[in-house]
Amino acid sequence: MIVMKFGGTSVGDAARIRGVAAIVRSRLARRPMVVVSAMAGVTDALLAAFARTGSGRRAGAELATRHAAVARRLGVPAAAVADELRELAEALEAARERRSASARDRDGVLSFGERLSARRVAACLRAEGIEAGAVRADEAGLLTDDRFGEAEPLAVALPCLRRSLARVRGVPVLTGFIGRTRDGSITTLGRGGSDFTAALAGAATGAEEIEIWTDVDGVMSADPRVVPEAHTIERLSYAEAAELAYFGAKVLHPKTMLPALRKGIPMRVLNTHRPSHPGTRVARSADRAHEVVKAIACKKGITLVNIVSSRMLLAHGYLARLFQVFADHRIPVDVVSTSEVSVSLTVDRTAGLREAVRELRRFAQVEVRHGRALVCAVGEGMIHSAGVAARLFAALGGEGINVEMVSQGASKLNVSLLVRGDDADRAVRALHARFFGGG
Ligand code: ADP
Ligand code: ASP
Ligand code: MG
Repeated sequence: MIVMKFGGTSVGDAARIRGVAAIVRSRLARRPMVVVSAMAGVTDALLAAFARTGSGRRAGAELATRHAAVARRLGVPAAAVADELRELAEALEAARERRSASARDRDGVLSFGERLSARRVAACLRAEGIEAGAVRADEAGLLTDDRFGEAEPLAVALPCLRRSLARVRGVPVLTGFIGRTRDGSITTLGRGGSDFTAALAGAATGAEEIEIWTDVDGVMSADPRVVPEAHTIERLSYAEAAELAYFGAKVLHPKTMLPALRKGIPMRVLNTHRPSHPGTRVARSADRAHEVVKAIACKKGITLVNIVSSRMLLAHGYLARLFQVFADHRIPVDVVSTSEVSVSLTVDRTAGLREAVRELRRFAQVEVRHGRALVCAVGEGMIHSAGVAARLFAALGGEGINVEMVSQGASKLNVSLLVRGDDADRAVRALHARFFGGG
């Protein structure tokens, strides 16, 4: 069995959904299980509908119109999604009436994107003569904790999912992105989380391969929207892919690699617009690449926190105390760099940061700089190669881009450089040109 996950663009309109059916048909001998995202733009539209509670009704109606148009063009019955659309309208109405709608309500509303999409794709497969059934992950046992918006699957989720999926006749079409708490509330796994669902489904069913179908030719040496001459990377290790995803390569959700790695399931990232392209294979070990650096990634919206304290000098327990403040406020820290009296670190979420800074100021001077970006060079080859950092600095220096912080993890997979947000795209292009030519 294989898992085939189709992202938002791949199911974005009737023509693309037909393309998906053709790709699924080409894999029928390998017993495919399909995972789908919401149609492109639908999750954002649902978020807007939920937030602008006043115009919630209209946004719901617009979505209904869009889905009806796709159904018509596909020639599948509109009734296939009629009950989901009705429930969505009710959920939006309920959120509008409640004085302060919660994160739980929001996840409930967001779930409709994937629910509608799974119904639609399953109906299209059936219309094309392929036996298929839509499966809601929340109803199929994908149990999670109750961190709405960023829920973590529970261990029991995998055996539950396996049992549910085994019962489906024909090709299961599973909703990406969503799960359910033990007490029955719908959760979401974080933006872009359908990739993660695919990996969980693959791990649950012992799939031989997980295919991530998207709108580009695999994982590329940089975001092709920023660097048009970026090339496809043939092979990546799970660690390299995870590092790239974590540091901004949106093509894969950062959590996707973990379930695949645990079960040793290879992944392939493929292009629905060009199904014959081999894309990128992600597996336990990458080929011994000739390239030192395989890709340049970039994560924007980063905040730098500089913490200076003379008391730090020789004080044991200081760092533990400092990081405890971030842990207490549930603020994940991305990159850290220290000297004898100062610690610089970056965070990509500012919720709780103001309170954390207030606490830190009890024992240190703290400076906060918003609007930064982390630009990262990733590749296992860097372990064996001297001088990468020098080349990185030379490339950015040549462009007059100031580097505010540098960090190289112990794994030596990644060198991260912090720059001003305005300089980020230029920095990515300069580094790409330095390591891969062109530009
Ligand atoms: P999907 O809807 O299929 O999940 P996403 O929009 O989440 O697709 O991810 C695909 C997009 O990721 C591409 O269109 C591309 O702009 C962006 N991207 C960023 N970095 C990379 C990279 N290194 N390789 C490929 N795509 C990347
Ligand atoms: N639809 C969700 C999102 O837009 C999940 C996904 O596409 O993977 O974030
Ligand atoms: Mg995605």
